Amino acid sequence: MTHVFHRNTHQSYPVAVAGDGPYIIAADGRRYLDASGGAAVSCLGHNATEVVEAIQKQVASLAYAHTSFFTTEPMEQLADFLIERAPAGLEYVYFVSGGSEAVEAALKLARQYFTETGQPQRRHLIARRQSYHGNTLGALATGGNAWRRAQFEPLLTQVSHLTPCYAYREQGEQESDDAFTTRLAQELEDEILRLGADEVMAFVAEPVVGATLGAVPPVPGYFRKIREVCDRYGVLLILDEVMCGMGRTGTLFAIEEDGVSPDITTIAKGLGAGYQPIGATLVSGRIYAAIAAGTGFFQHGHTYIGHATACAAALAVQQAIESRQLLSRVQVLGTALQQRLRSRLGDHPHIGDLRGRGLFQGIELVRDRTTKEPFDPALKLHARIKQAAMDEGLMCYPMGGTLDGRQGDHILLAPAFILEESHLDELVEKLERAITLALRAVK
Ligand code: PLP
Repeated sequence: MTHVFHRNTHQSYPVAVAGDGPYIIAADGRRYLDASGGAAVSCLGHNATEVVEAIQKQVASLAYAHTSFFTTEPMEQLADFLIERAPAGLEYVYFVSGGSEAVEAALKLARQYFTETGQPQRRHLIARRQSYHGNTLGALATGGNAWRRAQFEPLLTQVSHLTPCYAYREQGEQESDDAFTTRLAQELEDEILRLGADEVMAFVAEPVVGATLGAVPPVPGYFRKIREVCDRYGVLLILDEVMCGMGRTGTLFAIEEDGVSPDITTIAKGLGAGYQPIGATLVSGRIYAAIAAGTGFFQHGHTYIGHATACAAALAVQQAIESRQLLSRVQVLGTALQQRLRSRLGDHPHIGDLRGRGLFQGIELVRDRTTKEPFDPALKLHARIKQAAMDEGLMCYPMGGTLDGRQGDHILLAPAFILEESHLDELVEKLERAITLALRAVK
C-alpha cells in the first residue's frame, strides 16, 4: 500500500529506478523507450553527464539563495543565454519552477503593464479552444480544454475562447490557407471589438499546440495576421512555448519558423529537460521598461524563483543542445520520424491525421476516416493505447476524452533529441502494435 497521492488512484505504476539515454528502467529490469520525454520534457535523455556535473558543482557551492536578497551567476548566465537567442524584442527573463507558474507570471505581467501605463480598464483575456496553459487557476482559466476545466468552472475567471488554428477539423475543404487564417484573425478582431477595443489585455496561444491536440502546427501566415490584429488594438501577444519551445520543433523557439515576435513568451519543460524543475517568462523590453519606470516592482513571486541549482542545470542543458548541434538533429530526426509514421500508419483506417514539427509529432485517431467521427470518449481509446504501449515497453503521451466532441483521441510523440535512427524503428513498431491491440479492444 502506498501513501503517495498518485493522480490516477486506480492505477499501479512500475517503479522507475534508472535512466539510460532515451530509456527509463524499472525496478523489475524492464526498459521503456521514452517516446514522449515524459510530457515533452526529457529532450536530452536521462543521464547527460555535463548536466549531472553542473548540478553537482552548483549544489556543492550554493544550492539556493532567495532572489529578494541575491542574484546568482547561473541565473544571470542563463538569462543572457536565452535573450541572445530569443525572438526580437524579448529582453528580460523571469525564472520560475514550471510551466503553470510561467503562465501565471505572464498573465500578471500583462495586467501590471497596463496598470502601470494608465490603462487599468484592460482586463480581458482571449485564448483558444482546445488549448492547455497549465493547471493553476489562472492558467486553467486561460486554457480552453473542456475536460480539464469542467469541474472547476465556477472558480475560473472569464476568458474568451476562439477557434484554434487546427486545420484538420477547422479549415473548410475548399478553404485556402489564406482564407482560413484571415477568418481566424477576423474572429480575434471581432472578439476584441465585442469586449471593447481598449479593454483587452492579451491574446494567448501555443505556437504549436501540444497537450490538448497532439502537435498541431499553425497554418503558414496565421501568427503574422494574429500579430497584426493585436498591434492594431494594443493587445499583448503571449505565446506559450512551455511544451513546444526549447528546440522541440527544430528551432530554439517554435515561433521562429512563423517569423513573429511576441510580447511575452513562456518556456519550461525542455528548458531544464527534467534535470531540475524550471520555467521562465521572457518579457519585452517595453513591458519591463514600463514597470521599471512605474512602481519598479513586479507584484508577484514564489519562494523558488531563480533557483540557483535549477538555473545551473538548465544552462548546462541548453549549452549541451547547442554544442552537440541537436537542433539540426531534431530537424533530421523529425523528418525521419514523420516518414516512418506516414509509411506505417498513413493508410490506417483509424488514423485521421498525422501532423507535427520536428520531434513533436501527433497522431489523431478517428472511428471513421471519411467523416472524421471520433471514437466515443467513454471508450478511452487513448488510455488503452498508453497502457498497451507501456506493456510493449514504450512511453507515449495520449489524450482524448474531450467534452466538445470536436477532436479524436490522439497520441503525442516528443522523444529525446539524442535518439538514433534505430530508436525510431523501435518506436514506430511498438506504437503500431499498441494501437492495433487497443483498437481490437474497442471494436
Ligand atoms: N503550457 C503548456 C503549453 C503546457 O503544455 C503545459 C503542460 O503541459 C503547461 C503550460 C503547464 O506546465 P506545468 O505542467 O509545468 O505546470
